Amino acid sequence: MHFGWTDEQQMWRRAVREFAQEQIAPRSREIDSGAHIPPDIIKGMAQMGLLAPTVSEQYGGQGMDITMAAIAAEELGRAEISLALPVLYLVQASWGYILDRYASASLKQEILPRVTAGKAFLGIATTEPGGGSDIEGATRCKAERTADGWLLNGEKMYISGIKEELALGGCHMTLVRTDPQAGHRGFTFFAVPLKDNPHVTTTLVEDWGRQGISTGGFHMENLPLPDVNRIGEVNRGFYYAMEGFTLARILIGATCVGAAETALQMGVDYIRQRKAFGKPLATYQGISFPAAERFTDIESARLLTYKAAWMADELYARNGFKHKEVALAAAMAKLRAPVMAFETFNEVANWLGAMGYTKEYPIEMGIRGVRSYSIGAEGAMNIMRIIIARELIGAEYTSLRG
Ligand SMILES: Cc1cc2nc3c(=O)[nH]c(=O)nc-3n(C[C@H](O)[C@H](O)[C@H](O)COP(=O)(O)OP(=O)(O)OC[C@H]3O[C@@H](n4cnc5c(N)ncnc54)[C@H](O)[C@@H]3O)c2cc1C
Repeated sequence: MHFGWTDEQQMWRRAVREFAQEQIAPRSREIDSGAHIPPDIIKGMAQMGLLAPTVSEQYGGQGMDITMAAIAAEELGRAEISLALPVLYLVQASWGYILDRYASASLKQEILPRVTAGKAFLGIATTEPGGGSDIEGATRCKAERTADGWLLNGEKMYISGIKEELALGGCHMTLVRTDPQAGHRGFTFFAVPLKDNPHVTTTLVEDWGRQGISTGGFHMENLPLPDVNRIGEVNRGFYYAMEGFTLARILIGATCVGAAETALQMGVDYIRQRKAFGKPLATYQGISFPAAERFTDIESARLLTYKAAWMADELYARNGFKHKEVALAAAMAKLRAPVMAFETFNEVANWLGAMGYTKEYPIEMGIRGVRSYSIGAEGAMNIMRIIIARELIGAEYTSLRG
């Protein structure tokens, strides 16, 4: 067993931290109140290799493993605690990996070099108005074969990056039914382009956090797609979705660790110098003990997250684990990390007193942003609990399959 970082990992962390602290951290408020990530930041991320770095070099990525991708996620979370930019990063890094792994060479060539260059957006669309947790029960979107491809109909909702894709182009990896009788074995992924698409109508919703990346929906009406837009095998989409969620949950864990560390550091700096009743706040155990608790929680979340990242790398490099085992580890990280980050932000807000309730401090951006992770993004918390209970108690006692 070895808990250290390699030289390469340390160098990558230093490089991302330097870039993110200089170019991104001072602009968190601008990202949040402007409700977008400024193009020069996207350009800088592309130059740093921070857009879908998990994609292979052939398509403009860095062929980066999940541990390295998680290190970058942590540093981006540390820099941008509203968590909008980290979401853009993690969606493209995790789902870009899946697209690279399963799509045809021509589809990859069409999409991935533009995504890694910051000239297109890659999103994921599984959730529908009828629900996101129960994909098998709630999915109404479908694709039917035609003489020269597929015809898609249906609506996806609560999808990240609608505005971004409309601005830049790209696609949303969209999960639809291709065999309604086959249950979870009847789903297929398609690359659905939203921009300038006459068969697609989009909507936007107003979120109360992570304002720098949009959320919305799209409706597909008799949308014709060539077979080249199919991602992977017909009727294997559900399995690819589970794989993508696992990766995204690991990266969410990492962004939470980084953001929580920023909040805790901000709080520690404050309680060292703020005095009450003649002494620094930090000298009161009512303050320092919760600080110690949060410090330990961050470390627990970090260990869960990087263990899951390491397992994912072992799975892909040498079949060292089954996907189900990595999914369990990722669910544990996703169950703990967003709650840990929320509690850290909330605790630090207490220490700051009235100032913690103002927008002078970025703590409120973190509280708003991190709740998107625990409410639903990349899977609701009870779904994490069900994945974990499935392992502990048995699939027959849960709503999930074995
Ligand atoms: C900001 C944001 C961005 C998002 N971006 C995307 C995106 O890019 N692409 C995408 O496809 N989706 C996206 N989502 C949607 C997300 O995947 C869903 O919110 C999530 O899967 C939950 O689905 P739901 O919201 O329909 O809630 P539901 O599935 O209706 O669940 C509602 C509540 O019931 C609980 N629940 C459900 N089933 C059970 C059960 N069996 N036992 C106990 N409790 C249960 C859930 O935990 C949840 O608390 C995003 C969500 C948010 C908040």
